[in-house]
This record gives sequence, structure tokens and C-alpha cells, in this order.
Amino acid sequence: MPRRKGREGAEAGRRKIRVVPGIGTLLLSLVLLAGCGEETTPPPAVPPPSSDTSLKDPSQDLPPPPPQAPEPGAGETPSGPEPPPAQTPPQAPPSKPPTPPPEKPSSSPGIIPPAERESILVLVNAEHRLPKGYRPPDLVRVNVRSAWGDERALLRAEAARALEALFRDAQAAGFRPILVSGFRSYELQATLYGNRTDEPHIYSVAPPGASEHQTGLAADILEEGRGMDATFADTPFGKWLAAHAPEYGFVLRYPRGKESVTRVVFEPWHFRYVGREAALEMARTGEVLEEYLARRASAGGGTP
Ligand SMILES: [Zn+2]
Repeated sequence: MPRRKGREGAEAGRRKIRVVPGIGTLLLSLVLLAGCGEETTPPPAVPPPSSDTSLKDPSQDLPPPPPQAPEPGAGETPSGPEPPPAQTPPQAPPSKPPTPPPEKPSSSPGIIPPAERESILVLVNAEHRLPKGYRPPDLVRVNVRSAWGDERALLRAEAARALEALFRDAQAAGFRPILVSGFRSYELQATLYGNRTDEPHIYSVAPPGASEHQTGLAADILEEGRGMDATFADTPFGKWLAAHAPEYGFVLRYPRGKESVTRVVFEPWHFRYVGREAALEMARTGEVLEEYLARRASAGGGTP
């Protein structure tokens, strides 16, 4: 990485690539790159394939710390409005023992047990979260064109190989796919989440711990020049991806019409590796991962 700086000028000229986006662009990108969730724009410039040396200092992808961004607490619960303390009514009926105040709101998320975190079918969402500091053990750099030169070009090995095959076939079909975000650490997600204090029921920006990107199994895929908006679904490549991703073990994770189940807005660019068998079955049944796993569990088919 240190050798990048010296080559910047020459390579930038040769490749005609914007090397250093303005701070305004950085801040805009930050705001927009947080969600599943990067919901609205692609990175400011299209960098070279990840196999090349990235032209920009990866630190530029990270924003300056927000003015009063509190460090997310012990990790599991994103900073948000304190739930009103459950107070025992002063005149509580004597027949009932006083209820101890709950430590968390009733909808408080659970932390995924260590034994389940590396399952290809691991469920990460608002209710099932990964702890601060968790990283999958087998992250590798995906050998595809990627938007960022940093950890976001990583995926777990099995998902990386599958995505490379998907990209090869997409390119053969005439598309220009680009990996926007693969892995994102808890810490990066916390940075992207910033100092938000609300946690809406259906969100476009996942709180730290609730982002599938922390599993190393999720990939935000766009075509070069496309923004991250719902209309991507209507483009030829958006349609191709939705139709063919299951053949490579990926599912469109947050489809339109399933927001009440996934609790994430429609994101036609966010794909999740679940393995070919599960992906093909979910494509056949129309289930999202939550529904697929619930049906398997109720059928005694095992747990994630
Ligand atoms: Zn995503």
C-alpha cells in the first residue's frame, strides 16, 4: 500500500481516473454508502480492478469522525434513544411482586452464538446480530472489478469463488459488473451508521452488528455507471442478476414486497451467498432467508 502514493500521478493520468474525490463527495458518499446498505450512489469514481494497486489511499474512504459521534456502546446495542425505564408503579398491587425493569427493550436483538456465525446460512438482521469485533476467518480478496481498494473487496472464500464465476458470466453476457461492497467490519458499519439516534422498523442503513456485510457473505453489485437506487432493478443487468444469481448461490436478499419480513428497504443490488441449493430453492419458493429458515426449522430440517 505505501507504494501507491508514488505511482498515483502517472497511473492516474494513464487511466484517466479521478484519484482524490473532494471532501464533499466523500461526505456524500459516506452518507449514501451506509445501509445494507449503500442506497443511492456508487463510489465517486470507478477505480481499476482490485487486482491492480488501488490508486487511492484507503483511508480516504473513511470519513472524518462525525462531530459528536458516540462510540457505539458495548457493541450489541446501537446507541439510540434510551428506552423509557420500566418503572414500577408506585401503587402496584401488593399481590404482584414488582417486575424488575427489563435490561433492554422487548425488541432487543439477540447476539448470534459463535457456533452459528460461520454457517453459510447464518441469519443476520435486526433481531440477530453479530458482535463488535467479529470477523469471519476466511476472508479473501475477490478477483473482480471492485469499487473500493479496502476490505470491502473481501468476501469469505466460498462466496468469493462464486462471485467470480457470476462476474465472468455477466461479462460474457455483455455487462460490466462491479463489486461495490463485500465485507464490512462492525467498526466500518458503525462509522457509516454515524451518530444516528433512531432505528426505524424498516431501515436502509443497518446498525452495526445488523449488517449482513459483516458475515463476508453479502455483496452489493452494480453495473459501472449505475447509482444505488431502486431503478437498478429495471435495468438489463439488474434483471439478469435477479434471474441468474441463484445459479451461483446468491439470492436477492431484500426484495420488494418483503420489507416487513426483512426489515430492510428494497435493495436490488444486495445479494447474499447462501449456497446454490438453498438459493435455487428460495428462488423457486419466493422465500426470503428469514422465511426459508423458519420453514426448515418448523419442518425439523435443522437450524441455521
Ligand atoms: Zn448491501
